[in-house]
Amino acid sequence: MKLQSIKGMNDIVPPDSSTWQLAEQLLGDILQSYGYRQIRLPIMEKTAVFERSIGDVTDIVQKEMYTFEDRNGDSLTLRPEGTAGCVRALLQHGLLNQQNRKLWYIGPMFRHERPQKGRYRQFHQIGVEVFDLAGPDIDAELIMMTARMWKTLELTDLRLEINTLGTVENRRQYSRELHQYFSDRRDQLDADSINRLERNPMRILDSKNPSLGELIDQAPRLDQYLDEHSRAHFAGLCEILDKAGIAYSVNPHLVRGLDYYSNTVFEWITDSLGAQGTVCAGGRYDGLVELLGGKPTQAIGFAMGLERLIELSETRLTREDRSAVDIYIISTNEALAAEVLLYAESIRSAAPRWQVICHCGGGSIKSQMRKADRSDAKLVLIIGEQELVDSTVTIKPLRNQAAQFTVPRSESIEALREFVA
Ligand code: ATP
Ligand code: MG
Repeated sequence: MKLQSIKGMNDIVPPDSSTWQLAEQLLGDILQSYGYRQIRLPIMEKTAVFERSIGDVTDIVQKEMYTFEDRNGDSLTLRPEGTAGCVRALLQHGLLNQQNRKLWYIGPMFRHERPQKGRYRQFHQIGVEVFDLAGPDIDAELIMMTARMWKTLELTDLRLEINTLGTVENRRQYSRELHQYFSDRRDQLDADSINRLERNPMRILDSKNPSLGELIDQAPRLDQYLDEHSRAHFAGLCEILDKAGIAYSVNPHLVRGLDYYSNTVFEWITDSLGAQGTVCAGGRYDGLVELLGGKPTQAIGFAMGLERLIELSETRLTREDRSAVDIYIISTNEALAAEVLLYAESIRSAAPRWQVICHCGGGSIKSQMRKADRSDAKLVLIIGEQELVDSTVTIKPLRNQAAQFTVPRSESIEALREFVA
């Protein structure tokens, strides 16, 4: 039986890996330009880190976590998201100070979901967490930064939905009201919603079942329960987004799955990926740091799913071929291997960004030329007996009609620059 990868856990092989690298580079540069610093965290945590933070009535904790027992009996979990581990690390190292306010991470996340297009069991996120800033200015800046990311990736069909959840207290009152409303209409709910009713009635608003649409539309709305401060916060965010020309719609049913959100929540959504349309989701979680044992600390963050994002940005990401070979070096004689390798080293020292391939493994000139051709290199460089004696190299352009020529190796970089940008 052939060995296969685990269902829902994908290999990213060339040339797709180049697309990923470019996406990561473009997004990483933007994060850098806003002053974010990367944090690298383990992909596994003690299960309690997630149970305590994400909330044990959420889909993630109830159904989706990869949890197993370590050899010493500890319960461990492959991280389903990045925020909990990030807060755990900051608390552990006492890092919640000025310099570490703005952080980002990238890496695989694990959720045991039904694999389908845009939904995998190992997937990748880039996420951002900001601490100790009350907003709404930082809320707006985060959204503006994501808008810049979409622009860089040339994505045009993403729409922004925002909402405010108010304070934990606002939500508690509202939850009680919703519980009453849906309990009175229990016979109209589906099994999933009945399940949510006792544990987290707000999640019923999130239901994707169209036959609940009307019931949900007529449910009491959270905005009636917001306190003054939460209202002002949300109005402040909307005002900045308006001034920045960022279009959004307020979706009162946007509640997000996790328990730790408060006030601002947002999602960037596309219609071109079918049901898996949320590309980036985030919000404020002012209560989480305290919940995990720290001092009360405001916080806001978001995470974007790279699989969905890269699928959408294909046009932009495949335009530059990062795997393009610039130079392919061959020789007439295997005894010249050292000569070829050393010459290649000197080119790389002079032009570190060029991609230089040395032909390895010998073979006739004809077969080496064929391989050079197939590599799509711009130039093939030939070192033969004569070139060895004269310390020269023969340069043969492959992509245009220019004739081949021979130059001293010591002056060859200048000649190569004519062909390789
Ligand atoms: P969904 O409603 O699609 O299940 P979610 O609310 O569970 O998303 P978050 O926890 O907010 O997702 O994660 C942020 C982003 O990570 C999502 O918007 C999505 O782009 C991506 N994401 C989440 N789960 C998966 C998955 N199983 N496979 C691929 N991407 C995912
Ligand atoms: Mg989910």
